[in-house]
Amino acid sequence: MVAASAAEEPPAEPAEEPAAAASAPSVPAAPVPRRAVTGSATSRHAEVLVLGAGPGGYTAAFRAADLGKRVVLVDRDATLGGVCLNVGCIPSKALLHVARVVDEAADLAAHGVTFGKPKLDLDKLRGWKESVVARLTGGLATMAGKRGVEVVRGEGRLTGPNEIVVSTDEGEVTIGFDAAILAAGSRVARIGGVPWDDPRVMDSTGALELRDVPRRLLVVGGGIIGLEMANVYAALGSELTIVELLDGLVPGCDRDLVRPLERRLEKRYGAAIHLRTRVAEIRAQKNGLKASFAGDDAPKPKLFDRALVAVGRRPNGDRIGLESVGLELDEGGFLPVDRQQRTAVPQIFAIGDLVPGPMLAHKASHQGKVAAEVAVGLKSGFDARAIPSVAYTDPEIAWVGLTETAAKAEGVAYEVGRFPWAASGRSLGMGREEGLTKILFDPATRRVLGAGIVGAGAGDLIAELTLAIEMDCEASDLGLTIHPHPTLSETVAFAAEVFEGTITDLYLPRRRRR
Ligand code: NAD
Repeated sequence: MVAASAAEEPPAEPAEEPAAAASAPSVPAAPVPRRAVTGSATSRHAEVLVLGAGPGGYTAAFRAADLGKRVVLVDRDATLGGVCLNVGCIPSKALLHVARVVDEAADLAAHGVTFGKPKLDLDKLRGWKESVVARLTGGLATMAGKRGVEVVRGEGRLTGPNEIVVSTDEGEVTIGFDAAILAAGSRVARIGGVPWDDPRVMDSTGALELRDVPRRLLVVGGGIIGLEMANVYAALGSELTIVELLDGLVPGCDRDLVRPLERRLEKRYGAAIHLRTRVAEIRAQKNGLKASFAGDDAPKPKLFDRALVAVGRRPNGDRIGLESVGLELDEGGFLPVDRQQRTAVPQIFAIGDLVPGPMLAHKASHQGKVAAEVAVGLKSGFDARAIPSVAYTDPEIAWVGLTETAAKAEGVAYEVGRFPWAASGRSLGMGREEGLTKILFDPATRRVLGAGIVGAGAGDLIAELTLAIEMDCEASDLGLTIHPHPTLSETVAFAAEVFEGTITDLYLPRRRRR
């Protein structure tokens, strides 16, 4: 948890209405006086300069402004929100919602309710997705305005320890700063042998454009982006071939959590999944993209109508002028920081995808608050014990803290409480039974070490277990908390009860009962 205590009093605040932004990500702005950034059109001075307006950057900028600082937020895009809001988390979730409803409607045929085949109006669907994005990014712009955060549009590069130059449409703008928070994010990683300029080859941004629903879709990379978008296209009618370099989909996650997704992709959509396989080459032909493969399970060369290549992202630290202040990247291209998000140059902070750790929006926004608080002189630090991961596929997969795979590999003592959703009335009532909730406990202290969930809404359910780790919960804290019935959240308490040996919603052999 971030413990912040005021080292100095924030300025007196006049009464002002909270920002009425049409935006969901907002905590209402603590009203502060609008503080103009000083300087001319080509040169400015900011007390806090934030480079990059994704979830990390805008959070940092807004927090610093709420704490009374004059803030300039620089981003090259026309709208705030970065990859996450514009071409990532938010539009993909809108499309995944559509995919899920389409699938659920079709599933009802098995329960006696049949709908017609869905008719797709892609323009309308795209328009709706874009309206969701516009509402959120518009909300951010409103909130920036209310807070007096000046937004400068352009590509920014550090040019000195207290200076950045931004290339804008109107020319270069030099901005001096007392403190800078670098939040320039990451970009799509590209592999060779792929005709990237062919419009039929898509990265995550291209896939979200939903130009059509290809009959045969090749997905290169069985990570979160590849699988989320594969899910969308499959539900809309594409035939999937997925190739993954490693020996399982969603690397880093326990296999028992991934298996239900794998099975659904294969059974429901007839997806061909090739593990330990890579694309040797994709050739652009008139009649399609001809892909050839290499590896243990390489299929024969095959023709596709489109290919989505989602093989990871790389940090943008090599593009923001770090060399001008002597900052160096680590081997992975990440910028090292301390627990206060400070780089080796004390007035320069870095957060999010630029720095080591998972490339996740919620990590970035958390670090954004830490960096802003430290930059204004508060005692704050990044001391989160666990960062949850979620694949918003159907079924969703979510995990937090220690995984069983890591526990085994590292020889960490653990015991596991496992509750299969086939025994959950709520899950069966939803027509699904493949879910699983499992929690890893320390056998000595009975505290939660980690957890994983696969099933509908796993991404929401994992929050309770993240809190359990932060709060050092013991199994009995979870098991003895009254969970509403009938909900999927009960499976968390039940998994704890399985570990405790007190479960009555499953039959345990006598030796495991207490
Ligand atoms: P990823 O690293 O999660 O997955 C990429 C996959 O591609 C890996 O499984 C890798 O083994 C495989 N791969 C690499 N090279 C390959 C090759 N030549 N052929 C076949 N497979 C290959 O990356 P991503 O899915 O592109 O996502 C990028 C980042 O964005 C990740 O850090 C991810 O966590 C994050 N993200 C998170 C969410 C979310 O939280 N729901 C959603 C989207 C993206």
